[in-house]
Amino acid sequence: MQVAVFSAKAYDEQYLNQARGDISLTFIESRLNKQTVSLAQGFDAVCVFVNDQLDKAVLSALHAQGVRHIALRCAGFNNVDLDSAKALGIGVSRVPAYSPEAVAEHTLALVLTLNRKLHKAYNRIKEGNFSLDGLLGFNLHGKTIGLIGTGRIGIATARLFHGFGCQLLCHDPYPSAEVIQLGGQYTSMDELCERADIISLHCPLTPDTRHLIDAKRLAKMKNGVMLINTSRGALVDTQAVIQALKSQKIGFLGLDVYEMEGDLFFEDLSNQIIQDDVFQRLCTFPNVLITGHQGFFTQEALCQIAAVTLNNLRLAGQG
Ligand code: NAD
Repeated sequence: MQVAVFSAKAYDEQYLNQARGDISLTFIESRLNKQTVSLAQGFDAVCVFVNDQLDKAVLSALHAQGVRHIALRCAGFNNVDLDSAKALGIGVSRVPAYSPEAVAEHTLALVLTLNRKLHKAYNRIKEGNFSLDGLLGFNLHGKTIGLIGTGRIGIATARLFHGFGCQLLCHDPYPSAEVIQLGGQYTSMDELCERADIISLHCPLTPDTRHLIDAKRLAKMKNGVMLINTSRGALVDTQAVIQALKSQKIGFLGLDVYEMEGDLFFEDLSNQIIQDDVFQRLCTFPNVLITGHQGFFTQEALCQIAAVTLNNLRLAGQG
């Protein structure tokens, strides 16, 4: 099977090549879209990421060129027009889950870095300043962690905070038996907002969860609350969050995702976000820590993504 891998980074090449077996992979740096679809000429399948655009026109062009399978190397598939793919007889596969621990550990890294002000401390030390002024943290032990969403990543996060001796307060329409066994208590969104010292988002973005964290919910939170979002940017109303940072309602904010991210990723995002006023405003607060959608980015997660993607391609080749 001949596969064109679009939006290919050096790490895609490394991990996919390790597991390729008899599948022939051609790595193409460009995103797949109307302008680049002709590069798929002569391939049986394309392997794509969240930022590749597979609308009706691109899918028709792929089909005309002989492409019969699309292997997404990610969980989300909102960038693929599934109805058109089905009508054209193009198969679509994805990687539904990979290393929830990767995102859970990134969540914990954001919490600990913000709490112990490690980013500030290191910048100071590099300047030869060993003063502890302004670096006072708090123990996680005994604190209440509010987990909104206890699916794969929420459960992995619950295990980590349980290990730190935290109380787990959760909200999810489908409670997890494992989280309950860890002592997790399920409650309403409002009560979670009122009682948690740290609130971490692990639910999907849907029309119902858009701006789940808005001005009203922020007002219910404890003064100085820590808010962490490693899920999807639009779960929080960023303008309301900026107001809550100004009033010191939010004491710490850790983000791996942003509302203005849209379907952009990495370099595309770099070009756009630098001009975004809201993003620039967020960066002015000393108690904000932002990373660039890197929660998933561990060796183990990439290894799993590559293995599942190639298995999907193998199964498609047999079908
Ligand atoms: P999952 O489907 O396993 O779990 C999601 C959970 O959210 C489910 O238990 C569901 O019942 C719950 N939920 C749905 N609506 C809710 C609501 N209104 N309130 C509370 N809970 C609700 O998903 P997952 O694999 O754990 O992923 C969670 C999130 O992490 C997703 O949004 C995903 O996009 C994001 N994610 C981020 C990265 C990253 O690199 N930062 C990587 C992978 C996934």
